[in-house]
Amino acid sequence: LPPLPSNEPIGRLEDASFSRYAGATKFDQLPISQRTRDGLRDAKYVEMTDIQRASLPHALCERDILGAAKTGSGKTLAFVIPILEKLYRERWGPEDGVGSIIISPTRELAGQLFDVLRSVGKHHNFSAGLLIGGRKDVDTEKERVHELNILVCTPGRLLQHMDETPNFECSQLQVLVLDEADRILDVGFKKALNAIISQLPRNRQTLLFSATQTKSVQDLARLSLKDPEYLSVHEES
Ligand code: ADP
Ligand code: MG
Repeated sequence: LPPLPSNEPIGRLEDASFSRYAGATKFDQLPISQRTRDGLRDAKYVEMTDIQRASLPHALCERDILGAAKTGSGKTLAFVIPILEKLYRERWGPEDGVGSIIISPTRELAGQLFDVLRSVGKHHNFSAGLLIGGRKDVDTEKERVHELNILVCTPGRLLQHMDETPNFECSQLQVLVLDEADRILDVGFKKALNAIISQLPRNRQTLLFSATQTKSVQDLARLSLKDPEYLSVHEES
């Protein structure tokens, strides 16, 4: 990584800074790196959606989040940006291994959010991998997975690596994302998720997003989040 310009925010954002950014409506007004700003600009993201406005100031202060907002409301950027910023602030590099894991219910959704991560993160130097079932090259994946900084996975494939890949390591994990949590649970991944979470370091930030707030989402939140911000955004339609 090239040296950081002196005007960039470095280190943990203190809680006090939350109030300074709580009213932000555009991505430009957030305390984020120039690299992320450039990625957002290239992808033509300017104004934040409601869930992004509600959650990003908290997430950038490294708080845990339970965010509920309907499909299409822009939840992906609400976790992609905090991941990029956390790893950037920590000066995460190739030798640091897995810094973030994003769990998605289906291969298709995982693929879509991987594309968003690649697009908005394209000016960063992190490595990212899409670990989903059904791909033939699981052995190649096993050799390379320890080199990746950001993993986008379906629960089954992640658990497979945790169980079978000798040098799979996530003891330095910084940010865990459970995306579309209601659907992860609907598809029957509750046991897999519990097994995954029990193997992850506790000292991490967790962002849980869901379109609906069900009892099983609440249970998962209790298991995975620490003192979370509860954010529920439901626009009138
Ligand atoms: P969700 O996960 O809540 O269903 P997505 O993150 O997939 O929603 O976003 C839905 C659509 O909205 C995508 O096409 C995405 O590119 C677009 N989008 C997200 N955030 C913004 C934004 N701030 N400005 C414009 N379009 C956005
Ligand atoms: Mg989504």
